[in-house]
Amino acid sequence: MLKAILFDLDNTLLDFMKFKKESARAAAKAIIHSGLRESESVLYSKIFAIYDSKGIEYQRTFHDLLSEYSLSPHQLEHMKQAAIIAYTKKKYSLLRPQPKVVRTLSSLKSSYKLGIVTDAPRDKAWQRLVLSGLDLFFYPVVTFDDTFEEKPSSNPFKRALELLKARPDEALFVGDNTGKDILGAKRVGIATCLARYGCLNYSPEEDVADYRIDRFEEVKKVVDEIEKD
Ligand SMILES: [Mg+2]
Repeated sequence: MLKAILFDLDNTLLDFMKFKKESARAAAKAIIHSGLRESESVLYSKIFAIYDSKGIEYQRTFHDLLSEYSLSPHQLEHMKQAAIIAYTKKKYSLLRPQPKVVRTLSSLKSSYKLGIVTDAPRDKAWQRLVLSGLDLFFYPVVTFDDTFEEKPSSNPFKRALELLKARPDEALFVGDNTGKDILGAKRVGIATCLARYGCLNYSPEEDVADYRIDRFEEVKKVVDEIEKD
């Protein structure tokens, strides 16, 4: 029967895109305040263009952004640090769990092992868990640094099962990304649940999940359904 529930982190447990958008806006404002003659909306779009091409976890976004302008080393460092500080302050104030996550996890934790499989780097994943108050719920927390492969690779999922000492048919995976979370977990033979509330662009054609939820707390119904079978 079901022994473990594995979760994706960003947009599944955390309202990640809200934090990314608002922190990008705060960083753009801080750069302009430090002296760059550019509009906030242009900087904001450029930040997201860098995320689109280099990945949302890219760690040199502000450096790349500011390198496009003719700045002295003094100006560049000033603006970069202003952006990083503004971004970090927003992160601290905005990184919160999705609604009802804490209550639902508390109730699931009495019967199941709870784990995380995320593409985030290890340090960022733990920062997000601590900041959102979710750091005591999970073992294992499999991050990019554990296998150096991103979902939908099978390896992060296999690593989590190994650490849980669980078989694929004893686990459920909950994630918001059809191409990464659902496809990856399915390949390994884990039951899958799509967190539709976290999907950036939901497309029914790409949705091959076994279950889907529109609010986090509905995961309890999915668990009950699996236990009935
Ligand atoms: Mg996600």
